[in-house]
Amino acid sequence: MTERLFNFGAGPAVLPLTVLEQMRDHLVALPGVGMSVLEISHRSAVFDEILATAEMNIRALAGISDDYHVLFLQGGATQQFAMVPMNLLSANGSADYVVTGSWAKKAATEAVKFGSVRIAATTEADNFSRVPGADEIDLDGDAAYVHLVSNNTIFGTEWSGMPDTGHVPLVVDASSNLFSRPLDVARHGLGLVYAGAQKNLGPAGVTLVIAHRDLVARASSSLPTMMRYVTFAESGSRYNTPPVFAIYVVSLVTSWLRAQGGLQVMSERNERKAGKLYAQIDASGFYHGTAAADCRSRMNVTFRLGTPDLDARFVVAAADAGLAGLRGHRSVGGQRASIYNAFPEQGVDALVSFMAEFERING
Ligand SMILES: *Cc1c(COP(=O)(O)O)cnc(C)c1O
Repeated sequence: MTERLFNFGAGPAVLPLTVLEQMRDHLVALPGVGMSVLEISHRSAVFDEILATAEMNIRALAGISDDYHVLFLQGGATQQFAMVPMNLLSANGSADYVVTGSWAKKAATEAVKFGSVRIAATTEADNFSRVPGADEIDLDGDAAYVHLVSNNTIFGTEWSGMPDTGHVPLVVDASSNLFSRPLDVARHGLGLVYAGAQKNLGPAGVTLVIAHRDLVARASSSLPTMMRYVTFAESGSRYNTPPVFAIYVVSLVTSWLRAQGGLQVMSERNERKAGKLYAQIDASGFYHGTAAADCRSRMNVTFRLGTPDLDARFVVAAADAGLAGLRGHRSVGGQRASIYNAFPEQGVDALVSFMAEFERING
């Protein structure tokens, strides 16, 4: 078999090896079907079952009740930056946005096209090195919704809990930490959660949307059909041809998550993996974590070395050692180790050893 590297890329990102093997083994013909999943009709009984499995797994993992729709859309998380306000914000309404990084800012900027947007809090003055405390968030009790990004993929910060938004529905871009820990949809008063699949859920090409029925019902009928959540809710995500293969892989990944023991087990594993890296960063003055200590992400561990030259050498030497994809986002530089659900703990151990050795030689 071709040797696999440890892939620290931020997305599309590592998938569970067993899922890749299942895809390979069943690619030419699904067992008992005689056709590839790439060839089957999206209206076939075979795909009915794939879609039902994906939805059932998602509902089981996060305890999602029938009050919520589970939808499979396209256009990535970025399309949700428009769909959320198109569906939930009326022309004379106002929405609150909490700006904690590049994606949160893009979401707010897009929403301005559809209605009035208030910035309820921003940590831009701190270069997005933290998320705001509850006392810093200025919420409008009449807002149509509050939007936030639960994990800031680029800056390596994450909310440890969700702010209490009272009766105002919370809309969360959870692209980079969905299902990395338990998600109590009802308890957080979540109105809508969305995630591009390519970080924690599967391949690029499908976007998961979990949305409360009341919010789905809000959309104006004058919106383009493909931009209305209700179109997908009423058609079981099959108004047109859905991304069959991507949904198939999401069904495999979510089955894998359940087989691992579910979200509590994943949470403990992710905590442990991130803890090992942050301990190594904090062990000496050689590495510098870029996120505030109480806001550190368990999914994207961001750090720097003392100089840009050392940063550049670190990335190259790490790649030579089979540790790929550590270069930080082009907008911030430094290093970023993305260690999503499927990232193996041995890869974290390998990076920790490499960091110790690199420091011994260059420190
Ligand atoms: C990656 C990412 C996006 C962009 O996702 P696309 O699927 O490429 O549109 C949006 N938000 C967050 C938090 C992300 O990590």
